[in-house]
Amino acid sequence: MSESIKQKAITILGSTGSIGTQTLDIVTHHPDKFRVVGLAAGRNIKLLAEQIRTFKPEIVATSYEDKLPELKNAIADIPNPPKILVGGEGVAEVARYGDAESVVTGIVGCAGLLPTIAAIEAGKDIALANKETLIAGAPVVLPLVEKHGVKLLPADSEHSAIFQCLQGVPEGGLRRIILTASGGSFRDLPVEKLATVTVQDALKHPNWSMGQKITIDSATLMNKGLEVIEAHYLFGLDYNHIDIVIHPQSIIHSLIEVQDTSVLAQLGWPDMRLPLLYALSYPERIYTDWEQLDLVKAGSFTFREPDHQKYPCMKLAYAAGKAGGLMPAVLNAANEQAVALFLAEKIEFLDIPRLIETVCDRFSTQNKQYPSLEDIVEVDTWARRAVLESN
Ligand code: MG
Repeated sequence: MSESIKQKAITILGSTGSIGTQTLDIVTHHPDKFRVVGLAAGRNIKLLAEQIRTFKPEIVATSYEDKLPELKNAIADIPNPPKILVGGEGVAEVARYGDAESVVTGIVGCAGLLPTIAAIEAGKDIALANKETLIAGAPVVLPLVEKHGVKLLPADSEHSAIFQCLQGVPEGGLRRIILTASGGSFRDLPVEKLATVTVQDALKHPNWSMGQKITIDSATLMNKGLEVIEAHYLFGLDYNHIDIVIHPQSIIHSLIEVQDTSVLAQLGWPDMRLPLLYALSYPERIYTDWEQLDLVKAGSFTFREPDHQKYPCMKLAYAAGKAGGLMPAVLNAANEQAVALFLAEKIEFLDIPRLIETVCDRFSTQNKQYPSLEDIVEVDTWARRAVLESN
């Protein structure tokens, strides 16, 4: 069955990050299925150079112009070096280049928006591992996806689970989405202790191995709030039909309820490679030698209600999602800036939701329901500045 998929050409944006390296791990183990056309990365030139040697892409970009000499130097002895580009426009060029059918968007934060749009306009399918693209950019991105007839395939584990459960469910059959949340680093910590947690504490995620920004988002549960907005845009349900449940074991990756109350779930060990592989191989199923799920070994599954007192970010995200238009972009940018301040040890953990709420409140009278791309980019800059001013 899996033999029916021919070798697929792919491009990876954010190739040296957590998503990028896990995607390249898939390519390493399935060289007959996938071939790398383009890579884009940031400052980790050493790893990028290694990736160029191993995967022999045709085109490569680093988003930092000052990194160009280092990159050229690092690959000077390669006989057929790839075309090298720099800056945001370079990354966009990689995104739209050549015969890549699928572009994996692993760039963290709103920086992924413009190259993702470039890829869509070039007719590439998107393996969406950058949720900010959709959260901030949906009013512009979704019409482009429609116009160019490309597929937007979720690589986030929860949305991949929902998407997998939806296979075979007819249009109109979906009634409710239930997103599972691990509960993050502080799920067993009493609320009064949250005020004094450190960056190191927050970076210890109990189940998933992910980048720093998303690990902090898991600890505040903003990650789940952002995923609610992502689910709304991907699957079209209104916010009253998207729920969150805490499932500390992270084995059930999310569930859907259909009209007759039947509930379908997708299960697996917590491993980002699975949703990445499905986003790249859809609708095919590729055999892997990954550890198979053993229900007995997984043991008991438990569930509990999310604690909105302890984690105000979820309510902020629902409110921003319901406000629609530019508000999710403001929420997202304010969150990115607040998390950056926390990671730099400039603010406390509980300042993160406080700053986001202040900035969303300030913006609420200026919201627009049908923003342009310029509006989105502008509001992204505004919200970051507003966080710095409010601190
Ligand atoms: Mg997720």
